[in-house]
Amino acid sequence: MAKEGKDYSKYFDFSGAKIISEDENGRIIRLNGRDIHLVSEPNYRQEKQRGKEQVQVHYENAVPDELKTLGAGKKYLIYTYGCQMNEHDTEVMRGLFDEMGYAQAEDRKEADVILLNTCAVRENAEDKVFGELGHLKTLKTEKPELILGVCGCMSQEASVVNRIMQKYAYVDLIFGTHNIHRLPHLLQEAHFGKEMVVEVWSKEGDIIENLPKKRAEGLRAWVNIMYGCDKFCTYCIVPYTRGKERSRLPEDVIAEVRELARQGYKEITLLGQNVNAYGKDFTDRNYRFGDLMDDIRKIDIPRVRFTTSHPRDFDDHLIEVLARGGNLVEHIHLPVQSGSSEVLKRMSRKYNREQYLELVRKIRAAIPNAVLTTDIIVGFPGETEEQFEETLSLVREVKFASAFTFIYSPREGTPAAEMTDDVPYEVKQRRLLRLNELIAELSLESNRELDGRIVEVLVEGESKTKAGVLSGRTRSNKLIHFEGPKEWIGQFVNVRVTAPQTWYIRAEAVCGETADAAAHAG
Ligand code: SAM
Ligand code: SF4
Repeated sequence: MAKEGKDYSKYFDFSGAKIISEDENGRIIRLNGRDIHLVSEPNYRQEKQRGKEQVQVHYENAVPDELKTLGAGKKYLIYTYGCQMNEHDTEVMRGLFDEMGYAQAEDRKEADVILLNTCAVRENAEDKVFGELGHLKTLKTEKPELILGVCGCMSQEASVVNRIMQKYAYVDLIFGTHNIHRLPHLLQEAHFGKEMVVEVWSKEGDIIENLPKKRAEGLRAWVNIMYGCDKFCTYCIVPYTRGKERSRLPEDVIAEVRELARQGYKEITLLGQNVNAYGKDFTDRNYRFGDLMDDIRKIDIPRVRFTTSHPRDFDDHLIEVLARGGNLVEHIHLPVQSGSSEVLKRMSRKYNREQYLELVRKIRAAIPNAVLTTDIIVGFPGETEEQFEETLSLVREVKFASAFTFIYSPREGTPAAEMTDDVPYEVKQRRLLRLNELIAELSLESNRELDGRIVEVLVEGESKTKAGVLSGRTRSNKLIHFEGPKEWIGQFVNVRVTAPQTWYIRAEAVCGETADAAAHAG
């Protein structure tokens, strides 16, 4: 763990900059010839802290009347990196742009505002953003009035903001994950002022309801149920960039889901970094994730998913509710990260191998057709060959249907980044390869179990590779390709599995037959 008294100024030090002015709205500094309005900057120490103050819920409108025409005649473009949480934040920002009168640009050349909604989870995600910023420099030089902004998790990192201010001085706007609702005001300042505007809140704010959302399609929708994470796994930057765990009130979540059902959405995914911690922060009621799922089960929306589950908080009540089925699908994404208790301990995951396997047994006993997927990190500092083998054996034992697998990436400021790492990178790469081979084997095996069975598919669109072929997902999120007319897009169709492959399944439509109960989880 980072010790008290550690020197955090290395992340954010502008002692060399000239202060032009300073008041209650922040400081204006001049750095390498560029004026920067520092309204608030990321503060590592504050991001680490967890305050006891009650979270407030706000319902007022984020776009004041005077800013409703700010975007008239202008176009915006958002590039989104990372997880579903970011995708959904982009939907909120698109909603805000819409309310300000901006139109969406088809091409970066016609955009008046370009935002990069960034991900900080691994180094390669960050490299991509810096690469893209480099490419955008030419555009900015050709079109100086273009507003170039960086938001999302990377903006919460002092070292990133530092680097942008020093080396990417043509950026106009930096804001973080806690003040997305401030976008209208920040854009106003960026359009009319000359300085780069930096407004990053280090302490998570309150919960802002009623933000407009422009969802990507009318079929599937993401619904935030909580924000932040208090788990502090030693490798992970998320608790710093997304703040403390805070749950939306059940009545607000349920109202949103009801509205989506009314609008005809077929599938929703409840979002949180650790959805199983939902409700832990309520002081006025005893209402947890199992209760929320039980209430949502009664809403007329055909499929309900959730991501991500932390094994530690996955309680018996939740298993009992999920076992009731209905619109609660049989797919559970349950990140394990490692099969070695020793590594799990150093990751501070707060469960061991046996506890994870016990949870899987309980889930399978209650929901026999449950399909499990996971996240795994290989090459955690000091991971031995034996410990990696334990991961392989756990993966074999659980028979995950698929997995997101990663090589450990050190994140500055996290405890794991300070651990001695004696595992050469080539060894980590080889481990990843071996793990991926095993996952591919298990994925094929799990797909083959469906051979000849009838499964229900929600048709999402045409296959990207072959004309006349539709693609969709089963309840357990398996990708199905089958021939059919475009009119079926957005509908549920029963198909018979004809040729299971490793990462997708070929099938044919069947009329008048219902999905095979045993293959429901297909
Ligand atoms: N909250 C989720 C959970 O605990 O399962 C995960 C959120 S994180 C954005 C998604 C995944 O990224 C994690 O499950 C983990 O496997 C991976 N990840 C996080 N930090 C990482 C790091 N420093 N290096 C490699 N992978 C990492
Ligand atoms: Fe990161 Fe762990 Fe929180 Fe997931 S539970 S977001 S891995 S700290």
